[in-house]
Amino acid sequence: MQDAKTCPKCGQHMTQGFIADHTYGAVNVSLWVEGAPRASFWKKIKAPAAKSLPVATFRCLGCGFLESYAAAAYGVQR
Ligand SMILES: [Zn+2]
Repeated sequence: MQDAKTCPKCGQHMTQGFIADHTYGAVNVSLWVEGAPRASFWKKIKAPAAKSLPVATFRCLGCGFLESYAAAAYGVQR
């Protein structure tokens, strides 16, 4: 999903990206998880897949402001 977004701070064009989550040698896309974080014995924090969405972060080409959106359409493209 590539949306045309305009920076709310300076009015310049914003380009899509994502916040890379480096874990044990792998690179993942950050997830938004519905609800407050809950402790898990094995994973430290529970993150049920049914309540998770990939996060896209748009960066302003003018001032560097970041703005994030969570939606299924922002998942990994094949
Ligand atoms: Zn800006």
